[in-house]
Amino acid sequence: MNKKTNSLFYKQMLTGKTVFMSFLIAAIFSSCSKNNEEITSEAQTNAFNADNVKKGQLNGQEITYERKNGMNFFQGDIVLTDKQLSEGNEVNKGGASYSRWPNGKIYYTIAGNMGSINVNKINSAISEYNNKTNTQWIYRTNQANYVEFIFGSSSGSDGWAHIGYQGGKQTISLDQYISVGSVIHEMGHTVGLYHEHTRKDRDQYVKILWNNIQNGQSYNFNIYNSGTDIGPFNINSVMMYWPTSYSKNGLPTITRADNSNFTYTRTGFTTGDINTINAMYP
Ligand SMILES: [Zn+2]
Repeated sequence: MNKKTNSLFYKQMLTGKTVFMSFLIAAIFSSCSKNNEEITSEAQTNAFNADNVKKGQLNGQEITYERKNGMNFFQGDIVLTDKQLSEGNEVNKGGASYSRWPNGKIYYTIAGNMGSINVNKINSAISEYNNKTNTQWIYRTNQANYVEFIFGSSSGSDGWAHIGYQGGKQTISLDQYISVGSVIHEMGHTVGLYHEHTRKDRDQYVKILWNNIQNGQSYNFNIYNSGTDIGPFNINSVMMYWPTSYSKNGLPTITRADNSNFTYTRTGFTTGDINTINAMYP
Protein backbone atom coordinates (compact mmCIF):
# COMPACT_ATOMS: atom_id res chain seq x y z
CA MET A 1 0.00 0.00 0.00
CA ASN A 2 2.76 2.35 0.84
CA LYS A 3 4.38 1.81 -2.51
CA LYS A 4 1.21 2.81 -4.22
CA THR A 5 0.60 5.88 -2.14
CA ASN A 6 4.21 6.90 -2.33
CA SER A 7 4.18 6.61 -6.08
CA LEU A 8 1.66 9.43 -6.16
CA PHE A 9 4.04 11.52 -4.17
CA TYR A 10 6.92 10.70 -6.45
CA LYS A 11 4.90 11.48 -9.53
CA GLN A 12 4.22 14.87 -8.06
CA MET A 13 7.89 15.30 -7.39
CA LEU A 14 8.61 14.54 -11.02
CA THR A 15 6.28 17.25 -12.20
CA GLY A 16 9.05 19.57 -11.08
CA LYS A 17 10.97 19.69 -14.32
CA THR A 18 14.67 20.17 -14.12
CA VAL A 19 14.57 23.40 -16.05
CA PHE A 20 17.62 25.32 -15.06
CA MET A 21 19.00 28.80 -15.44
CA SER A 22 21.73 28.18 -17.93
CA PHE A 23 21.40 26.74 -21.39
CA LEU A 24 24.63 24.91 -20.87
CA ILE A 25 23.33 23.14 -17.83
CA ALA A 26 19.98 22.52 -19.48
CA ALA A 27 21.79 20.79 -22.31
CA ILE A 28 23.60 18.53 -19.90
CA PHE A 29 20.35 17.53 -18.28
CA SER A 30 18.36 16.90 -21.40
CA SER A 31 20.01 13.50 -21.49
CA CYS A 32 18.31 12.35 -18.30
CA SER A 33 14.77 13.51 -19.03
CA LYS A 34 14.02 10.16 -20.65
CA ASN A 35 15.04 8.37 -17.51
CA ASN A 36 12.73 10.58 -15.52
CA GLU A 37 9.77 9.40 -17.52
CA GLU A 38 10.74 5.80 -17.08
CA ILE A 39 10.87 5.98 -13.33
CA THR A 40 9.55 3.04 -11.42
CA SER A 41 8.67 4.29 -8.03
CA GLU A 42 9.73 2.40 -5.00
CA ALA A 43 9.35 3.44 -1.43
CA GLN A 44 12.74 4.62 -0.24
CA THR A 45 11.87 3.75 3.30
CA ASN A 46 9.85 1.23 5.22
CA ALA A 47 6.11 1.09 4.81
CA PHE A 48 4.21 3.51 6.99
CA ASN A 49 3.58 2.01 10.39
CA ALA A 50 1.54 3.91 12.96
CA ASP A 51 3.67 2.36 15.70
CA ASN A 52 6.63 4.30 14.32
CA VAL A 53 4.93 7.68 14.79
CA LYS A 54 6.44 9.37 17.83
CA LYS A 55 5.96 12.56 19.75
CA GLY A 56 8.95 14.59 20.78
CA GLN A 57 10.19 18.04 21.61
CA LEU A 58 12.02 20.23 19.12
CA ASN A 59 13.06 23.74 20.04
CA GLY A 60 10.46 23.78 22.79
CA GLN A 61 7.56 22.64 20.62
CA GLU A 62 5.91 19.23 20.76
CA ILE A 63 6.25 17.67 17.35
CA THR A 64 5.26 14.42 15.71
CA TYR A 65 7.82 12.49 13.71
CA GLU A 66 8.26 9.04 12.23
CA ARG A 67 10.97 6.67 13.36
CA LYS A 68 12.13 4.49 10.50
CA ASN A 69 15.42 2.92 9.45
CA GLY A 70 16.87 4.09 12.74
CA MET A 71 16.24 7.75 11.85
CA ASN A 72 13.73 10.40 12.94
CA PHE A 73 11.81 11.84 9.96
CA PHE A 74 10.09 15.19 10.47
CA GLN A 75 7.84 16.78 7.81
CA GLY A 76 8.61 13.83 5.53
CA ASP A 77 12.22 14.37 4.49
CA ILE A 78 13.88 16.23 7.38
CA VAL A 79 15.97 13.98 9.60
CA LEU A 80 16.35 15.00 13.23
CA THR A 81 19.22 13.54 15.22
CA ASP A 82 18.54 11.88 18.55
CA LYS A 83 20.63 14.70 20.03
CA GLN A 84 18.33 17.36 18.59
CA LEU A 85 15.30 15.59 20.03
CA SER A 86 16.92 14.98 23.41
CA GLU A 87 17.78 18.66 23.68
CA GLY A 88 14.45 19.70 22.27
CA ASN A 89 12.80 20.50 25.57
CA GLU A 90 15.40 23.15 26.26
CA VAL A 91 14.33 26.14 24.27
CA ASN A 92 17.81 27.60 24.05
CA LYS A 93 19.38 24.53 22.52
CA GLY A 94 18.92 23.35 18.99
CA GLY A 95 17.48 26.71 18.08
CA ALA A 96 18.03 28.89 15.08
CA SER A 97 21.45 30.30 15.85
CA TYR A 98 22.72 26.94 17.03
CA SER A 99 21.96 25.32 13.72
CA ARG A 100 23.80 27.78 11.46
CA TRP A 101 26.95 26.75 9.63
CA PRO A 102 29.86 28.84 10.95
CA ASN A 103 30.60 31.71 8.54
CA GLY A 104 28.16 30.19 6.04
CA LYS A 105 30.81 27.69 4.94
CA ILE A 106 29.43 24.23 4.26
CA TYR A 107 32.02 21.54 3.57
CA TYR A 108 30.82 18.51 1.63
CA THR A 109 31.83 15.19 0.16
CA ILE A 110 30.06 12.96 -2.35
CA ALA A 111 29.81 9.20 -1.86
CA GLY A 112 31.79 7.20 -4.38
CA ASN A 113 28.71 5.34 -5.64
CA MET A 114 26.73 8.49 -6.44
CA GLY A 115 26.92 8.20 -10.22
CA SER A 116 27.80 10.95 -12.67
CA ILE A 117 24.24 12.10 -13.37
CA ASN A 118 23.62 12.86 -9.71
CA VAL A 119 27.09 14.37 -9.35
CA ASN A 120 26.20 16.78 -12.16
CA LYS A 121 22.96 17.68 -10.39
CA ILE A 122 24.83 18.28 -7.14
CA ASN A 123 27.35 20.50 -8.92
CA SER A 124 24.54 22.49 -10.54
CA ALA A 125 22.79 22.93 -7.20
CA ILE A 126 26.04 23.96 -5.52
CA SER A 127 26.62 26.57 -8.23
CA GLU A 128 23.21 28.01 -7.44
CA TYR A 129 24.07 28.30 -3.75
CA ASN A 130 27.56 29.63 -4.34
CA ASN A 131 26.49 32.16 -6.98
CA LYS A 132 23.27 33.40 -5.40
CA THR A 133 23.52 33.02 -1.63
CA ASN A 134 25.90 33.88 1.16
CA THR A 135 26.49 30.20 1.86
CA GLN A 136 29.53 28.69 0.24
CA TRP A 137 29.65 24.96 -0.41
CA ILE A 138 33.29 23.88 -0.41
CA TYR A 139 34.67 20.43 -1.17
CA ARG A 140 36.00 18.97 2.04
CA THR A 141 39.65 18.27 2.57
CA ASN A 142 39.97 17.40 6.25
CA GLN A 143 37.34 19.51 8.01
CA ALA A 144 35.68 17.81 10.98
CA ASN A 145 32.22 19.27 10.33
CA TYR A 146 30.73 18.45 6.93
CA VAL A 147 27.86 16.99 4.96
CA GLU A 148 28.11 13.90 2.80
CA PHE A 149 25.84 13.42 -0.21
CA ILE A 150 24.91 9.73 -0.20
CA PHE A 151 23.10 7.68 -2.82
CA GLY A 152 19.69 6.62 -1.51
CA SER A 153 18.04 4.54 -4.21
CA SER A 154 18.54 3.67 -7.87
CA SER A 155 14.80 3.73 -8.56
CA GLY A 156 13.37 6.58 -6.47
CA SER A 157 13.19 10.32 -7.08
CA ASP A 158 13.25 11.40 -3.47
CA GLY A 159 15.70 12.62 -0.89
CA TRP A 160 16.17 13.54 2.74
CA ALA A 161 18.56 15.62 4.78
CA HIS A 162 19.51 16.56 8.30
CA ILE A 163 18.26 20.00 9.31
CA GLY A 164 20.80 22.74 9.96
CA TYR A 165 24.36 22.45 11.15
CA GLN A 166 24.91 19.36 13.30
CA GLY A 167 28.63 19.23 13.96
CA GLY A 168 30.60 16.20 12.79
CA LYS A 169 29.40 14.35 9.72
CA GLN A 170 25.86 14.78 8.50
CA THR A 171 23.98 13.60 5.45
CA ILE A 172 21.98 14.49 2.36
CA SER A 173 20.49 11.43 0.64
CA LEU A 174 19.57 11.61 -3.05
CA ASP A 175 17.80 9.03 -5.19
CA GLN A 176 18.73 8.51 -8.82
CA TYR A 177 15.81 10.39 -10.38
CA ILE A 178 15.68 13.38 -8.04
CA SER A 179 15.48 16.74 -9.82
CA VAL A 180 18.01 19.53 -9.48
CA GLY A 181 15.25 21.56 -7.83
CA SER A 182 14.83 18.89 -5.19
CA VAL A 183 18.60 18.68 -4.67
CA ILE A 184 18.45 22.43 -3.95
CA HIS A 185 15.50 21.69 -1.63
CA GLU A 186 17.41 19.05 0.37
CA MET A 187 20.42 21.35 0.60
CA GLY A 188 17.99 23.96 1.92
CA HIS A 189 17.31 21.68 4.89
CA THR A 190 21.06 21.39 5.45
CA VAL A 191 21.28 25.18 5.49
CA GLY A 192 18.52 25.22 8.11
CA LEU A 193 15.27 25.71 6.20
CA TYR A 194 12.03 23.93 7.09
CA HIS A 195 9.09 23.67 4.68
CA GLU A 196 7.23 26.72 3.44
CA HIS A 197 3.78 25.24 4.13
CA THR A 198 4.62 24.86 7.85
CA ARG A 199 5.15 28.60 8.37
CA LYS A 200 3.12 30.16 11.17
CA ASP A 201 1.34 32.46 8.71
CA ARG A 202 0.55 29.80 6.13
CA ASP A 203 -3.21 29.71 6.76
CA GLN A 204 -3.46 33.19 5.26
CA TYR A 205 -2.11 31.82 1.97
CA VAL A 206 -2.88 28.12 1.73
CA LYS A 207 -5.49 25.68 2.87
CA ILE A 208 -4.71 22.14 3.99
CA LEU A 209 -7.26 19.58 2.79
CA TRP A 210 -6.87 17.16 5.68
CA ASN A 211 -9.40 14.67 4.28
CA ASN A 212 -7.24 14.03 1.22
CA ILE A 213 -4.07 13.22 3.19
CA GLN A 214 -2.94 9.62 3.50
CA ASN A 215 -3.73 7.96 6.79
CA GLY A 216 -1.12 8.74 9.39
CA GLN A 217 0.64 11.48 7.41
CA SER A 218 -1.32 14.53 8.59
CA TYR A 219 1.42 15.54 11.00
CA ASN A 220 3.60 16.46 8.01
CA PHE A 221 1.27 19.42 7.47
CA ASN A 222 1.38 20.79 11.02
CA ILE A 223 2.54 24.36 11.48
CA TYR A 224 6.02 24.46 12.97
CA ASN A 225 5.69 27.22 15.53
CA SER A 226 9.29 27.10 16.70
CA GLY A 227 10.56 28.15 13.29
CA THR A 228 11.26 31.73 12.34
CA ASP A 229 9.32 33.03 9.34
CA ILE A 230 11.65 35.16 7.24
CA GLY A 231 10.22 37.34 4.47
CA PRO A 232 6.77 36.85 2.94
CA PHE A 233 5.15 33.47 2.34
CA ASN A 234 6.00 32.25 -1.16
CA ILE A 235 3.97 29.43 -2.66
CA ASN A 236 6.68 28.92 -5.31
CA SER A 237 9.44 28.50 -2.75
CA VAL A 238 11.87 25.68 -3.41
CA MET A 239 10.94 24.59 0.12
CA MET A 240 7.21 24.21 -0.66
CA TYR A 241 5.40 20.86 -0.80
CA TRP A 242 3.60 19.83 -3.98
CA PRO A 243 -0.18 20.47 -4.18
CA THR A 244 -0.82 16.72 -3.90
CA SER A 245 1.97 15.71 -1.52
CA TYR A 246 0.81 12.71 0.56
CA SER A 247 -2.52 12.62 -1.27
CA LYS A 248 -4.44 9.41 -0.74
CA ASN A 249 -6.77 9.97 -3.67
CA GLY A 250 -4.96 12.14 -6.20
CA LEU A 251 -6.85 15.22 -5.06
CA PRO A 252 -4.96 18.23 -3.70
CA THR A 253 -3.78 18.23 -0.13
CA ILE A 254 -2.87 21.91 -0.41
CA THR A 255 -4.71 24.66 -2.28
CA ARG A 256 -4.51 28.42 -2.10
CA ALA A 257 -6.46 29.91 0.78
CA ASP A 258 -9.23 30.91 -1.64
CA ASN A 259 -9.66 27.19 -2.51
CA SER A 260 -8.12 27.57 -5.95
CA ASN A 261 -5.47 25.12 -7.10
CA PHE A 262 -1.88 26.16 -7.64
CA THR A 263 0.78 24.68 -9.86
CA TYR A 264 4.22 24.06 -8.52
CA THR A 265 7.34 23.11 -10.40
CA ARG A 266 10.31 23.46 -7.97
CA THR A 267 12.77 24.53 -10.62
CA GLY A 268 15.08 26.29 -8.21
CA PHE A 269 15.40 29.29 -5.94
CA THR A 270 12.85 32.06 -5.86
CA THR A 271 14.09 35.53 -4.99
CA GLY A 272 12.41 35.03 -1.62
CA ASP A 273 14.40 31.85 -1.00
CA ILE A 274 17.66 33.66 -1.71
CA ASN A 275 16.68 36.57 0.51
CA THR A 276 15.75 34.15 3.31
CA ILE A 277 19.06 32.29 3.16
CA ASN A 278 20.97 35.56 3.05
CA ALA A 279 19.05 36.83 6.07
CA MET A 280 20.12 33.67 7.90
CA TYR A 281 23.70 34.04 6.69
CA PRO A 282 24.34 37.78 6.46
ZN1 LIG B 1 11.88 18.78 2.42
